[in-house]
Amino acid sequence: MTVLVTGATGFIAGHCIAELLENGYAVRGTVRSLRTAQVDHLHAAAERTGGSLELVEATLDADEGWAKAVDGCTYVWHLASPIPPGVPKDENELIRPAVDGTLRVLRAAAASGTVRRVVLTSSVDAISHGHPHSQTRALTEADWSTVDTAGPYARSKVYAERAAWDFVADSALELVVINPALVLGPLLRAESNTSIEVIRRLLARDMPAVPRIGFAVVDVRDLARIHRLAMETPAAAGNRYIAAGEFRWMGEMAQVLAEEFKPRGYRVPTRPLPYWLMWTVARFDKTIRLALSYVGARADFSAARAERDLGWRTRPARDTIVDTAESLLAMGVVPARG
Ligand code: NDP
Repeated sequence: MTVLVTGATGFIAGHCIAELLENGYAVRGTVRSLRTAQVDHLHAAAERTGGSLELVEATLDADEGWAKAVDGCTYVWHLASPIPPGVPKDENELIRPAVDGTLRVLRAAAASGTVRRVVLTSSVDAISHGHPHSQTRALTEADWSTVDTAGPYARSKVYAERAAWDFVADSALELVVINPALVLGPLLRAESNTSIEVIRRLLARDMPAVPRIGFAVVDVRDLARIHRLAMETPAAAGNRYIAAGEFRWMGEMAQVLAEEFKPRGYRVPTRPLPYWLMWTVARFDKTIRLALSYVGARADFSAARAERDLGWRTRPARDTIVDTAESLLAMGVVPARG
């Protein structure tokens, strides 16, 4: 059986493709351009597993290529979506490709006559915004973000996920949605991405102190596995699944990194960054600007549905944090000391 994975160059998609190949599925991946240099790790996974991998061109911004991409596939994992390092000037830079792209993928899948189920990668950002900061309960799949309080990226995920549910209501396609928390874990190629930046900045001491922001963490290897379980489990159809583990303040992540890596010469910052200083830095640092909207906010998520229906849970956040940092060093994204 062939599985289409959209956005094959992405951090999570690389692990998803490896998971599929290791489990005997043939994979077709979409890339914006076949001339991309960011796929060597995918070919290496195909070689290592003896699996079948084919890449085709399609972008979220145009219809061309999608009919060919889904042709003959039994499943589609739709991961491609813009994740900017900062806040865009025009929110439609995110919302349009996220929503229109999702609909393009679903329309092509529905018309293919072969695709049975689509697994869509949404986000806890489609769940967590607009609830009181002092949550007294863990959020569940029954919760939705309110778009008026959410930033452009979170809005793009809410709108794209809602569009997908609306689409399948009138279609024979099955849909399963995965809502991941902050995704950390080993890189498969030598490039950081938006979520890995949280660890890279600490390990590389790109900031002298630590902002009071925090996230529930999910390991990218476990996230790839939940995508497969969501595809293979008949009763998963029609469900959202939160893929999240423990919540960690960035200060707690810094503490883990300091314990593990300070003895090896890495000057991991652990002092808290005052809000006024963060606000000042945000004027010229777009990633810090993005982080401003998360200051002081804590959201815990229940992954009980995934545990009950799919037998899934993610590994301890400490292991994921350390493995992320080790891979940043191994890949040379953070220069090794000594
Ligand atoms: P990456 O930035 O590593 O990957 C994003 C992928 O989307 C890339 O392959 C990128 O292609 C592709 N893409 C972006 N815009 C377009 C477009 N207009 N047309 C075609 N392809 C496009 O991100 P992640 O791997 O972290 O994210 C994958 C999915 O997981 C996304 O849907 C994201 O919202 C979701 N997610 C991620 C979380 C995280 O913490 N990382 C948390 C929750 C959800 P290219 O390489 O050409 O730019």
